Amino acid sequence: MNDNKPPNDIRPGRLSQEQIAANFADMHPPLTPSESIIDADRCYFCHDAPCTTACPTGIDIPGFIQKIRSGNLKGSAKTILEENIMGGMCARVCPTEVLCEQACVRNTHEDRPVRIGLLQRYATDAIFETGIPLFERAAATGRKVAIVGGGPAGLSCAHRLAMLGHEATIFEPMDKLGGLNEYGIAAYKTVDDFAAREVEYILGIGGIEVRTGVGLGKDVSLGELRKTFDAVFLGLGLAGVNGLGLDGEQLEGVANAVDYIAALRQAPDKASLPVGRRVIVIGGGMTAIDIAVQSKALGSEEVTLVYRRGQEQMNASRYEQEFAQTRGVNIRCWSSPRKLLTANGRVHAVEFETTRAGITGKLEGTGQSYLLDADVVFKAIGQKLLTDPVANSAEIVELKQDRILVDEQRRTSLPGVWAGGDCVHGGEDLTVSAVQDGKLAAISMDKFLRSA
Ligand SMILES: Cc1cc2nc3c(=O)[nH]c(=O)nc-3n(C[C@H](O)[C@H](O)[C@H](O)COP(=O)(O)OP(=O)(O)OC[C@H]3O[C@@H](n4cnc5c(N)ncnc54)[C@H](O)[C@@H]3O)c2cc1C
Ligand code: SF4
Repeated sequence: MNDNKPPNDIRPGRLSQEQIAANFADMHPPLTPSESIIDADRCYFCHDAPCTTACPTGIDIPGFIQKIRSGNLKGSAKTILEENIMGGMCARVCPTEVLCEQACVRNTHEDRPVRIGLLQRYATDAIFETGIPLFERAAATGRKVAIVGGGPAGLSCAHRLAMLGHEATIFEPMDKLGGLNEYGIAAYKTVDDFAAREVEYILGIGGIEVRTGVGLGKDVSLGELRKTFDAVFLGLGLAGVNGLGLDGEQLEGVANAVDYIAALRQAPDKASLPVGRRVIVIGGGMTAIDIAVQSKALGSEEVTLVYRRGQEQMNASRYEQEFAQTRGVNIRCWSSPRKLLTANGRVHAVEFETTRAGITGKLEGTGQSYLLDADVVFKAIGQKLLTDPVANSAEIVELKQDRILVDEQRRTSLPGVWAGGDCVHGGEDLTVSAVQDGKLAAISMDKFLRSA
C-alpha cells in the first residue's frame, strides 16, 4: 500500500455563491395563480377518489382542488391542514409520484396526473406566509401529555392534542424543533426556512410547551414522564446510523450521510462546507440520493452512488433515481463494499465486490471486485432506533425488529404510552406517515384521557 498518498481533496468553495444558490434553488417552484386554475380544472372530482385513498393522511384531495377552483384558498388550506397539519411540508417533500399522483385517474387517461403536490402547496403557502389561524383550541380539559421528540410525529400529535383541549409538552434534545424537516430533508426541497415557519404556525395554536435540550434516557426517564403526565407519546425517530461493518470506518474520509446533511441544512453559507472532489455514496434510499445530489450541487466533480442490488430494488423511487442522474450522479448497482483502502489515517478508495441474486433471491458475491477512488465516502445504508431510552429502564416498551410495536391506534405495550413516526414498526418512514401517526395517536389519547 502506498503510504505517501497525497491528502484527500476535500475543501470548501468549489463553486461560486451564485452557482450554489442556483443549485439549491426550489426544486419545484410554486404554481402561479393561472397555472393553479389550469391544473385544478384537470381534476375530474372523482367519487371515492383514489388519490385520497392513496394519501396516508386521507386529505380530501378533490375537495381542496374544488375550493382552489372557486377561489376559496383559505377553505382549501383548511381542508388540507385539518387532516395533515404539515400539509405545507408534505406538498414539498412527499413522493407524490408513488402516492396520490400515481393513483390519479388522469394517469391512465393522459399519462399525466393532476399536479396534486403543487396544488397543495399553492393552497397552503399563503397560510404559512401570513400565519392566518385556521384552528382553535377546544375548552381546556386540564389533561397533560408528554411528547418525546419534536419531529413531524411529535408536532402533529401535539397540535391535535391542543385542538382537542389538552396540554402538550414537547421534550426535544436539539436546539430546534422539526426533526428531519429541519435537519434532514434535502435543502432544495424546503427553501427559505420553511420548516421553521411551519413549526411556528403549529405552535401558534397555543397549549404546547417546548423544552429543548432535553432527551429521553438522558435528562428524563419514561418512568418520570408516566408519573408526571396523563399520557406519553414517543416520536423519537431513528437517531442511530447503520455501519458498514468494515475496518477503517472511523477514519477521516468516511462520514454518515445524515450528519453531513444536518450540517448542510444548518450552514448559513453552504459555500463554506468542505466538499470532496470524488464522492462515493453507499446506499439506495432517499438519504443516499439526497447526499449524492447535494454533494454534486456543492461542487463535487464525481459522485458515484453504489447499491448492492438492482435499480428496481432501490428504496428511492424511479423518479428520484432519474432526478439524481440528471443532476450528474452516477449510479452503480449490484456491488457491495468489501474493503476501505486507507493511507495516513485516511480512506482514499473503496473495494467493491460485484453481487447477484442467487437462486433463492438471496444476495451473493460473485468473487469479482473493482476499486473506486474517493476523497469522501458517505454511509447511507439506513438509520436505526436507539433503543436505550425506551428499553433500558424499568418501563420497557415492547419492540419488534428493533422498532416500537404499536397497534392501529398507535398504542404501545405500556398503558398510557403511544408512539408513532419512524420509530415504530411497520411504518413507511415518510414525513406524511409520521404526521398521520401523531394525529391517530392524539385521537386515541383523547378518548383515553376523557374516559380516565
Ligand atoms: C436524509 C433524509 C431525507 C429524507 N427525505 C424525505 C423526503 O424527501 N420526503 C419524505 O416524505 N420523507 C423524507 N425522509 C423521511 C422523513 O424525514 C421521516 O420519515 C420523518 O422525519 C419522520 O418523522 P419522526 O417525527 O418520526 O422523526 P424525526 O423527524 O427523526 O424526529 C424525531 C425527533 O425526536 C428527537 N429525539 C431523538 N431522540 C430523542 C430522545 N432520546 N429524547 C427526545 N427526543 C429525541 C429528534 O431530535 C427529532 O427531533 C427523509 C429522511 C432522511 C434521513
Ligand atoms: S384521482 Fe386525479 S382526477 Fe380524480 S379526484 Fe384525484 S386528483 Fe382529481
